[in-house]
Amino acid sequence: MPTLPPHALKALTHLIARRMGSEEAEAAQVADHLVRANLAGHDSHGVGMIPTYVRLLRDGLLVPNQSPDIVLDAGAVLVIDARRGYGQRMAADAVRRAIARAKELGACVLALRNSSHIGRIGTYAELAASEGCAFTAFVNVADHHDVQATWAAAEPRLGTNPFCAAVPGPNGPAVMLDMATTTIAAGKARVAFNKGVSVADGCLIDASGNPTNDPAGFIRDHTGALRAFGTHKGSGLAVMCEIMASAVAGGQGAFNDAKGGVLNSMLATLIDVSKLGDPAAIAANVQAVKSHVKSARPAPGFNEVLTPGEPEQRHAAVRAEQGIEVDDVTWRDIRAAAETLGISAAEFDQTVGANRG
Ligand code: NAD
Repeated sequence: MPTLPPHALKALTHLIARRMGSEEAEAAQVADHLVRANLAGHDSHGVGMIPTYVRLLRDGLLVPNQSPDIVLDAGAVLVIDARRGYGQRMAADAVRRAIARAKELGACVLALRNSSHIGRIGTYAELAASEGCAFTAFVNVADHHDVQATWAAAEPRLGTNPFCAAVPGPNGPAVMLDMATTTIAAGKARVAFNKGVSVADGCLIDASGNPTNDPAGFIRDHTGALRAFGTHKGSGLAVMCEIMASAVAGGQGAFNDAKGGVLNSMLATLIDVSKLGDPAAIAANVQAVKSHVKSARPAPGFNEVLTPGEPEQRHAAVRAEQGIEVDDVTWRDIRAAAETLGISAAEFDQTVGANRG
């Protein structure tokens, strides 16, 4: 299992994205996003997505260097159709526009439609928080076979529909909740399958609707489903993500015909917190909430009470220092995907090796 420094993985991803047709800046954005997802501990949304992106490109379901369609630009409301553009760039550019609007007007509602996979939603929350904006996002996943079984369902009807909320702190988000509304993200079942390990209890059902720990049916045969987190309440949040992103924001829905792509739509709100009060006082109160929550005695089996976003910060510190492990199957699949783009084994190894030291 190779363990690689972040810049080696970034150089490799950049090469692959360039060979997929992205201009320099887009390739750099995709590489930065994917490797930062690995750093945060979310291998499900890191470089392991490359083979999927290569397949989407081949099938005409991902469009490099796309120009988004600005459907509505009306003060505090922006509606942008990404037209299957590279999500890492489409979503970041849309959120940057929304940040500028929030700074001007106090807040902005952003409806982003039909972007190819936008990856780790927390990336956009970090962008907003670093500019002093509180961020919320309801996101759906469409154009793909359904993977999430909602409460009481024996078969899937939704995507993994992530939800994200963050508040700014001195260096990026002070607290950031960033999660799939399934018990685990689909990519985590893929990572478990690739590693040949089971998934935890309560995450998956099989084709008959019974609980299972084996990710093989779900990943290999597309049977069964990921379960919604948090019984009927988490399932309700997944339904609201679908409604906000498709019915309200106007993106493609899980109810539409799927072509086998991965389309994300997002209804996001950005609030410049300095318009609500003194940012230093708000930051102090955020810290007070964190400290209060963390002051609780840990339950049996736990060492510490954490707030959302802390695990990712810790992962990032460790992986920046020790490197990022990529499992053998993922590495083999990335190599195979690179080969289909005409990247020889020598060029692949040379790109990784030259950035290894
Ligand atoms: P996760 O379950 O690892 O973490 C979810 C949240 O819980 C995070 O905010 C994390 O900080 C927090 N958390 C984790 N452990 C904690 C602890 N011990 N104490 C306190 N808080 C804790 O994440 P996930 O649901 O597997 O999602 C992974 C990533 O997948 C996210 O970045 C998400 O945006 C992304 N995603 C993207 C899509 C898409 O279509 N683009 C779909 C689904 C998920």
